[in-house]
Amino acid sequence: MLWPVAMDTKYEHIRQMPDGHMDVCFFNGSVRNSEQEELAHLLRRKSSVLVAFGSCAQHGCIPGLANLYSRERILDTVYRDEPSVDNPDGVRPAPRAAVKEGEVTLPEFHDRVRPLDRLVAVDYYLPGCPPPVPLIVDAVEAVFAGRLPGRGQVLCPTKALCDDCERNTNQAKKMPDVRRVYEVAADPNVCFLEQGIICMGPATRTGCGRRCINGNWPCTGCMGPTPGVSDQGAKMMSALSAILRVDDEQRSTPDQVEKLLAGVKDPAGTFYMYGLAAATVARGRRG
Ligand code: SF4
Ligand code: SF4
Repeated sequence: MLWPVAMDTKYEHIRQMPDGHMDVCFFNGSVRNSEQEELAHLLRRKSSVLVAFGSCAQHGCIPGLANLYSRERILDTVYRDEPSVDNPDGVRPAPRAAVKEGEVTLPEFHDRVRPLDRLVAVDYYLPGCPPPVPLIVDAVEAVFAGRLPGRGQVLCPTKALCDDCERNTNQAKKMPDVRRVYEVAADPNVCFLEQGIICMGPATRTGCGRRCINGNWPCTGCMGPTPGVSDQGAKMMSALSAILRVDDEQRSTPDQVEKLLAGVKDPAGTFYMYGLAAATVARGRRG
């Protein structure tokens, strides 16, 4: 078992295993550096079943938002531009450095965050940030009972969160305004969208037990897109375009929609909080 917070297994122990030796590997985290990339290939080789565990491994999750910026821009910010940085010599982490005891190495920081399946074949996905405990238990039981579904599947219900939400009482939703959470005392019985608050429920898989909704907080989308959807943010924008309207009878004009959308202060963080690294357009524009 390679679980650094629980056991001190060394990489060398894993390398010495025969290929396919591990029945199952739950791979946690996205891939941003050379060490993680090496581990992804190593654990793929040594595992019969590889599960992308959690939103980071599945879609890049919040670390994937760094893909809006280049590697150089991130390093400039962290080691030069932040007001609290005191680094007059402009020192940067180096992959290799000589010290009196010998040479020490650091993993190389890559230009982008990648979900696990951008590097190796993934057998199953266990979504969520974090994955809900009942789904983890189901997955482990399925592994031991030998009743895993066909490879490539997301180990999670297939419905959208809205289909599972008690607030979903009005089929003719209308969103007349876009507001931020702190601007509204949200009614706990009314759909967030109808209160002007963006909730990713229409574009997100259920299976989390409605953790945020039950706490009167809108869904931000951690369970990933609904089945058949590759780009969760695009799906959500499409859903919004159907309900963003100021008038009951007719759709809003382009000007009205533009005004409403100006209320979304952080489009990447709102629509792609978990899925930017796996999105169709997954980079920021340079300059
Ligand atoms: S948008 Fe959110 S609050 Fe509204 S029905 Fe869907 S999950 Fe529930
Ligand atoms: S409500 Fe949305 S953000 Fe919250 S746990 Fe469920 S899927 Fe994740």
